[in-house]
Amino acid sequence: MKPILELKDVVMEFEIEILGARKRVRAVDRVSLVIDRGSVYGLVGESGSGKTTLGKVSLRLYRPSAGVVMFDGVDITKLPERRLRPLRRRMQLIPQDPYSAINPLHTIGEALMEPLMIHYGLERREALDRVLEMLGRVGLVPPEEFVNRKPNQLSGGQLQRAVIARAMLLNPDYVVADEPTSNLDASIRASIIDLLLEFRREYGQSLLFITHDISLVSLIADRVGVMYLGQLIEEGPTDQLIKEPLHPYTQALISAVPLSGELGYRKVTLKGEIGDPATPPPGCRFHPRCPFAMDICKRQEPPVVEVRPGIFVKCWLYVRK
Ligand code: SF4
Repeated sequence: MKPILELKDVVMEFEIEILGARKRVRAVDRVSLVIDRGSVYGLVGESGSGKTTLGKVSLRLYRPSAGVVMFDGVDITKLPERRLRPLRRRMQLIPQDPYSAINPLHTIGEALMEPLMIHYGLERREALDRVLEMLGRVGLVPPEEFVNRKPNQLSGGQLQRAVIARAMLLNPDYVVADEPTSNLDASIRASIIDLLLEFRREYGQSLLFITHDISLVSLIADRVGVMYLGQLIEEGPTDQLIKEPLHPYTQALISAVPLSGELGYRKVTLKGEIGDPATPPPGCRFHPRCPFAMDICKRQEPPVVEVRPGIFVKCWLYVRK
């Protein structure tokens, strides 16, 4: 079966102005990954690692500077907007900040009915019926009450449910959930994840779940990719990658999870902050923070090595000399 999404050597560059000089910044650097139909892919990394940009490229909200984006077997890399439009319904984004996702002047009902009327050509009454049903489905009850509220009359958790409802109403095949729980309390976080998993079970959707919290991906993802300064530095099946992380950066992310020491993980402490994508370090981009850095790491970029079947790591420690 064709994967729902395939990225091949994707590069995304932006032009920025620094002290009056124009500079190209590479936010995503030669990333390849495959998301199988009906699966959840967890994309992990610190803020500034390029996760959100990659998610937006996969939805063709950004047109990549190089590489290929395939959606359901169709090359959408350079598809003009007119030809992308019929596919838009099938690819949805659940953004990190639900308050930015819904026009504050609209009621929840208006915000959710609009895409149904645009994409399916539904009449208002029919769209409203579907919205009421979906609001109940995502736990916004009684739906007749929520439908008339404005975004500022909902809590963060309630608004995130409304944003999920809006995406799911279009019955998408592929959903990018960009840190959908990062602004929420722990108790609400679990219920939002359960909700996403329920939709996936029921409708067989494929999900790109973006997070800075590696402990979350073990709850939701089938496969995990770890990003650092625009590059994918480790990738593999979730259970194996979480049980035995290989890249020092992945080890450090797991070390930072409470109780990881008690669970037998070795302590790897990160030095400093993630670098600036405008001026990435030479060689391995992680070398200024890596406790295992060798001379070669400072000079030469490591290749990606398949260390075990299906587990890919970009680190000199795993390159056979
Ligand atoms: Fe550390 Fe070198 Fe591996 Fe980079 S390549 S993660 S610096 S050991």
